[in-house]
Amino acid sequence: VLDHPVLDGKTLKRLLRFRSLDAPVVSLYVAVPVDPGEVRGAPAALHTLVKPLRELAESDELSHAARESLRADAAKILELVPRALQQQGKAMGVFACSRENFYEEVALPRQVRDRVVVDATPYVRPLLAVLDESHRYCVVVVDRERAWVHAFDGGQLEDVTKEAGRVLRKPDYGGWHGLDEYRVRNKAEEWARRHFRETAEAVERQVQRTGAEFLIVGGHEETIPNFLPFLPHDLQGRVAGTFVIDPHTLTPARVGEQAQRVVDEYERREEQELVARALERVAMGGLGAAGLEWCLAAADAKAIQLLLIHDEQEVPGRVCDNCGWLGLEGEDCPVCGAPTRKTPDVIDEMAAAVVDASGSVEHVYADTPLAQHVVAALLRFPVPPP
Ligand SMILES: [Zn+2]
Repeated sequence: VLDHPVLDGKTLKRLLRFRSLDAPVVSLYVAVPVDPGEVRGAPAALHTLVKPLRELAESDELSHAARESLRADAAKILELVPRALQQQGKAMGVFACSRENFYEEVALPRQVRDRVVVDATPYVRPLLAVLDESHRYCVVVVDRERAWVHAFDGGQLEDVTKEAGRVLRKPDYGGWHGLDEYRVRNKAEEWARRHFRETAEAVERQVQRTGAEFLIVGGHEETIPNFLPFLPHDLQGRVAGTFVIDPHTLTPARVGEQAQRVVDEYERREEQELVARALERVAMGGLGAAGLEWCLAAADAKAIQLLLIHDEQEVPGRVCDNCGWLGLEGEDCPVCGAPTRKTPDVIDEMAAAVVDASGSVEHVYADTPLAQHVVAALLRFPVPPP
């Protein structure tokens, strides 16, 4: 499998800072299905996505240079097909501006909505949304005799460490004639404890090796609470959630599915907490901001530590390419007086500016009061509302 380099810091910076004034930048996101039957339809999907680009390249409203550049971008994007086909279950992001010799292609660890955006800057929100959700997890499935430890990264179950067999085998009760039932049960308890202890150690090793931030525990309903106390204290605090599964019917696909469900619930919970924290700070007059105008002012001041964005909502606005000012309205920049540029989504420009200024961005998909504000932020220093 041709492996695309994981999006590194340098590439991200290039994407955040690139702008082109002579010809537009094409940003394209395409998901590659998991199902081999559907994968065959992927080239056709890409052609459909590229079609509006070709139409735009015929438009009289654009300069000759811009039309040439778009035509070249469309052709280059279609060359993506063989590489995209190797990313089953993942997605590709492509950013192109042939006029400026700019082309970046990144494989994203999970699927995103297909889309094409044409603007003066790369459209980075879907990329940032994937990055802000890509925590590393360690998944352990445990029963009284066996355990399976996995790494779970970007929606993929990896690196299966089968711990079965390492631990003591199930005792052969048949050979225990003469022992009363009480002692057999006692012996079994002792074995289970030892197995749980060894499993907890295996989990700890895996967490250290992979740098997993969170832990997910699966197993029989009654096994999970018996196992959890064996985990070291700091790992107990990092359990993102648990799931019930019958280890006898275990498949990697099923474990992956259950782990993803726990991850989704955990992420939504985390989002709700962050929104509550930001709005609480706003209410208390602390280091918070809410609403587009206020957050844009905070972004202009480089005060945003964490920007929270409701779902995929987009809002048009204005950008000053001279000094970086972002706002909702104004043909002239209120800071430096230079003419501003229209942008179809000022939230995208704001997200790029925040990340470029060492802040972070979290897209909030959970149902929260952020829906009314569209954006809110945790600030590094106070910025008064405009
Ligand atoms: Zn300006």
